[in-house]
Amino acid sequence: MLAGNWKMNKLNRDLGPFFDEFAQAVGLDRDEELTEQVDILFAVPTTLLALAARQMEPRGIRIAAQNIHWEAAGAYTGEVSVDMIKEVGVTATLIGHSERRQYFGETDETVAKKTTAALAADVMPIVCVGETLAERDGGQTAAVVTRQVQAVFAQVADPKDMIIAYEPVWAIGTGRSATTAQAQEVHALIRGLVADRYGAKTAETLRILYGGSANPANIDELLAQPDIDGGLVGGASLKPQDFAKMVKAALPR
Ligand code: PEP
Repeated sequence: MLAGNWKMNKLNRDLGPFFDEFAQAVGLDRDEELTEQVDILFAVPTTLLALAARQMEPRGIRIAAQNIHWEAAGAYTGEVSVDMIKEVGVTATLIGHSERRQYFGETDETVAKKTTAALAADVMPIVCVGETLAERDGGQTAAVVTRQVQAVFAQVADPKDMIIAYEPVWAIGTGRSATTAQAQEVHALIRGLVADRYGAKTAETLRILYGGSANPANIDELLAQPDIDGGLVGGASLKPQDFAKMVKAALPR
């Protein structure tokens, strides 16, 4: 899976030109089987969800929200529920992105609640975990990632199509990607935690994405790692040509 995270970027008027250029560059119109070989997803701002889903879901590209609230409805000013994103044709959502943990008070507990809400509604949760630079330098990476993952697993009996994205906070938007060895090590740790909780079969199929300054130049090496099943891409997903190159890198050779 190659998933783009547009964060707080782009307007509705940008969607048509972006997706036309992306579809052309990636060969979506020439190769109808493309989306059977690689899952392509864009997590877009709330105001773009309806139009993006209408334009892209029929073409096999998934549109995701960047956040949801865990309650179905109620007095939560400014929030959006999973039923609301589903109503406009959205089939997935990011949960617990580090920017939400850092700036908007997201905790392991709220991440777990949001994940269970998404799964209950058959919306695919992409749960983001990852350590800060201070935590890595302090030798805390494994402990932090284990805590974040287990907080979710404790509340989830059946992970269905849950995806986990390992995104070291120090690599997000910094141009400084984790080395492939650093990424693979944490991915293997996460896969082991999945196996402990849900068994070997689920551990084989549950996808673990890497995120953090992934780009067309480093994606091949990242995807070649045995426990890296795809990428969650911020900056490079805003450029149709760059993201198309990354999607192509994920195609079976
Ligand atoms: C992200 O926001 O999920 C991300 C990985 O950003 P970037 O690729 O820009 O580091």
